[in-house]
Amino acid sequence: MNYRHAYHAGNFADVVKHVALVAALAHLKKKDKPFRVIDTHAGRGLYDLAGVEAGKTGEAQSGIARLGAIADASPALQAYFAIARGFGAARYPGSPLIAAKALRPGDTLVAIEKHPEEQAALAAALAPFANAKAVLGDGYERLAALLPPPERRGLVLIDPPYEAADEFDRVAAAFAAAHRRFATGIYLLWLPVKRQVDADALAGEILHAGATRLMLLTLDVGRAPDAEPGRLSAAGLLVVNPPFGFAPEMRDVLAILEKQLAQGPGASARVQWLAGEGG
Ligand code: SAM
Repeated sequence: MNYRHAYHAGNFADVVKHVALVAALAHLKKKDKPFRVIDTHAGRGLYDLAGVEAGKTGEAQSGIARLGAIADASPALQAYFAIARGFGAARYPGSPLIAAKALRPGDTLVAIEKHPEEQAALAAALAPFANAKAVLGDGYERLAALLPPPERRGLVLIDPPYEAADEFDRVAAAFAAAHRRFATGIYLLWLPVKRQVDADALAGEILHAGATRLMLLTLDVGRAPDAEPGRLSAAGLLVVNPPFGFAPEMRDVLAILEKQLAQGPGASARVQWLAGEGG
């Protein structure tokens, strides 16, 4: 295992992904009926921003740490910030802990993590939440069997490390199998945008798999002249079945983040409908 999210927790890409997660969950909570969240690549749940890994990259400094001044600039940012900073300035919650915090007692969370050390830490982080479960396993392999959720409502987050050369293909295949079983779910698929062609190809696969409503959120923070070569500067989130009202919220959020999180020239943000525009 090479990838450890502790190096990246709270960076600009986490901010976009987690604001969108909290906003989508808020929409699901508008109905009383319970729902389920499945996080296929969950990570360890809670990250030490004062630790060695975070200190080595300093990525949170140009992510969550820059949001204090604008945290109440939009309701979606405010809701995210309240959860993200709820563990103090030296700790950052990952997606499963953010989801657990956002859920109501009747909603449920299944968080899958492949690496035993990370999963053990995740189980400890989720222990206070009776409605959340930390599963040790391969998220791609486990997903289809968990669908459709018994609640028949829910959200699936697929957020792999993109270490393997075939990771885009694995995301596409996992989505296709999941969508066949649960076409009405909300899906958030995170992707690095190093080459636009990979993002376009993944979006094409998602449409080919049958998604009829698909949105792509992209944040490019630009590159400082002294930026480390190879450091990620643009990230995307494909959102299948975005809830009504989610698009305008994300437009507001991304317009703010584009300015606040810019690291150099060329920063830009976009909310694009790729299919089924509306709401
Ligand atoms: N979703 C987390 C968040 O937003 O806080 C971050 C997840 S991190 C990008 C990816 C995680 O997936 C890592 O913790 C890694 O150990 C784990 N992982 C890698 N391959 C996996 C697989 N096939 N199934 C489940 N977890 C996997």
